[in-house]
Amino acid sequence: MTEQLAELPYYSAFRGTTNDKAVELSYELNQWFKPEGMVRSFFTSGGSDSVETCLRLARQYHKVRGEGERTKFISLKKGYHGTHFGGASVNGNANFRRNYEPMLAGCFQIAAPWTYRNPFGTDNAEEIANRCIAMLEDEIAFQGADTIAAMIMEPVLGAGGVIVPHKSFMPMVREVCDKHGILLIADEVITAFGRTGDVHGSRLWGVAPDMMCTAKAITNSYFPFGAAMMGEKVVDAFESNKDGLGNIGHGYTYSAHPVGCAAALATLAEIKKAKVWENAKARGIELQNGLAQLKEKHQIVGDTRGIGLMAAIELVDDRPTKTPASKPAIAAAFDAAYEAGVTIRVSGNNIILSPPLVITADDVTRMIGALDKGLSAAAGV
Ligand code: PLP
Repeated sequence: MTEQLAELPYYSAFRGTTNDKAVELSYELNQWFKPEGMVRSFFTSGGSDSVETCLRLARQYHKVRGEGERTKFISLKKGYHGTHFGGASVNGNANFRRNYEPMLAGCFQIAAPWTYRNPFGTDNAEEIANRCIAMLEDEIAFQGADTIAAMIMEPVLGAGGVIVPHKSFMPMVREVCDKHGILLIADEVITAFGRTGDVHGSRLWGVAPDMMCTAKAITNSYFPFGAAMMGEKVVDAFESNKDGLGNIGHGYTYSAHPVGCAAALATLAEIKKAKVWENAKARGIELQNGLAQLKEKHQIVGDTRGIGLMAAIELVDDRPTKTPASKPAIAAAFDAAYEAGVTIRVSGNNIILSPPLVITADDVTRMIGALDKGLSAAAGV
């Protein structure tokens, strides 16, 4: 990044110009996403930008192909897709919507494949996945498949409480989208580059989406940066178009920022060298085992869940009714864990854990110890 600042600190990529680092990074990402078939990258300044880019280009894709009525989006309740108007409109959490309504028209949410809380009266993950897919099919039939542009989903839902779908879920979503000509956008802002214990979240489930949104780990947050990536089918539609409909009227002043591209190239080289997904997988198993022990010990723990190095503990006042734990109890858990040397993230009645991908086994033990103290403190409130 320092070298890049001295060499070329900025140049616009808005109107057909580019820079060498952006070209190199496009190539690098093409290699990283070979199994998913991502062949073009659109560089942004973060996750919300990446989501917005995919949503906008999804609508344009259909217009280019002469299906301009396909403008709607389907997504999952509890999903999080950032705070731009498009992303917030496909969001599945009222906290990010209520104060900003009315949202973008034509966005519809179906139930999340969540074992702990769902409208289906079962905790069988596979059955829940099937029920959610039935809801998806029902919503598509109700809206009219030829009015829907895309389905957007996180391979593992992050901010909504770390909801890990059954392994059949995303492949079934892919199948349904294909059947109805609907694009599948994987929001991998959290899950790309190792977090789930596989290289990417879509790869974990064996799915090749049509578009992917990334940010966060791509520069390890050394620079605000993201990439929205397109698969061959989408790219072909744009690039084979001859009547101007394929011209992209979307972009940002800081698109393909050369310092951001340099940061991404350096970060991806380190991620690849360290194969952080392998560590995320191994440490993730230890973390989940530790969390399961905490659940056995502490009545306030209603549920623990996660995969790789994304995990959540859901705190409840009462296990049978699943009443969320009180705010003071959750605050006490935070304070005691913090005093024991571990900062946790509180989101509603969930404790969300996203430790560094290079965490050691000792670090995991230390986290579990601090959480143990936090949960004891919460129980005493
Ligand atoms: N999508 C997902 C899945 C996210 O987790 C986030 C942020 O946490 C976003 C999009 C938005 O990214 P940003 O905060 O960089 O705008």
